[in-house]
Amino acid sequence: MTSHERPLDTVLETIGQTPLVRLHDGPAGVPIYAKLESFNPGASIKDRIGRYMLERMLERGDLPTGGTVIEPTAGNTGIGFAIAAGQLGLDAIFVVPERFSLEKQQLMDALGAEIINTPTADGMGGAIERAHELADELDDAVVPQQFANPLNTEAHYETTGPEIYEALDGKVGAVVAGCGTAGTLMGIARYAREQHPDTYVAAVEPEGSLYGEFLDHDRREDEYKIEGIGTHNTDTNELFEPDLVDEVYAVPDESAHEELKRLAAEEGHLVASSAAAASVTAKHVARNIADGELSTPADSVVTVFPDSSERYLSKGIYRSFDEWEG
Ligand code: PMP
Repeated sequence: MTSHERPLDTVLETIGQTPLVRLHDGPAGVPIYAKLESFNPGASIKDRIGRYMLERMLERGDLPTGGTVIEPTAGNTGIGFAIAAGQLGLDAIFVVPERFSLEKQQLMDALGAEIINTPTADGMGGAIERAHELADELDDAVVPQQFANPLNTEAHYETTGPEIYEALDGKVGAVVAGCGTAGTLMGIARYAREQHPDTYVAAVEPEGSLYGEFLDHDRREDEYKIEGIGTHNTDTNELFEPDLVDEVYAVPDESAHEELKRLAAEEGHLVASSAAAASVTAKHVARNIADGELSTPADSVVTVFPDSSERYLSKGIYRSFDEWEG
């Protein structure tokens, strides 16, 4: 299955085909599997959309040869796009809200991209606005718009989803993933529902985020430390399709922090807060299946670990909860 057994021509060919590994803190009889996206060359799930979106945009002529990619990004997308842009002969500029991790910004810089910071208080909305202003100032620039571009979802429909089903011979009961743009969950969910229409689909967000409003849940907006998932304004989350989602779970920062430490200490996973939030939720869903509260096409749960904790060491991710800056 893996494409990594022979020498490869460029780093782009190492994207995807990541391992699916069983987690060991769930109920007996309902295995939980996590897809380890830190195995990608830029060490996150966003390498997938970097390659997929830029290749399709070049093919379609939406992006000129030698053109410039400008993207508002929490960081991992910038790294994914920077790797792909560099190898595909494109320039890259990223607009990043200040609160996001410095490690990510240093990596984007090393990959040859330019970084522009926007005030934390303006959120992703402010970064999106600034990216469009910049694109208007340049002739050959395009904003791929990961928050709105169907190619984001398609990347996961074409790669992440099929990889999961191939690894488990189609025996998938539930799919659980955090939502930033929601591209990851929507792509996997669309593929999953085509394989079996009753596949249970759960979205994960931090407590304080508003994705739950899509399913008419009461949500109270607040700051959160979990990085990479969640929204403060659902108008920016154009990819989220409520029809593909059975439930949106809100995970408190404390639970994610405890779980990311447990995942490292007990299971050897050096993963960050969004993976930990997904793990907490995957265990909850697995328990519901084990207790007979949820009926799914198979007794298994699949989740996604989007990136690695190494990217957040400067924020004290493994220190006490209060010392973790988030
Ligand atoms: N976790 C991390 C660490 C991320 O950077 C992202 C992307 N913002 C996600 C999860 C969520 O992925 P998606 O945008 O596909 O919903």
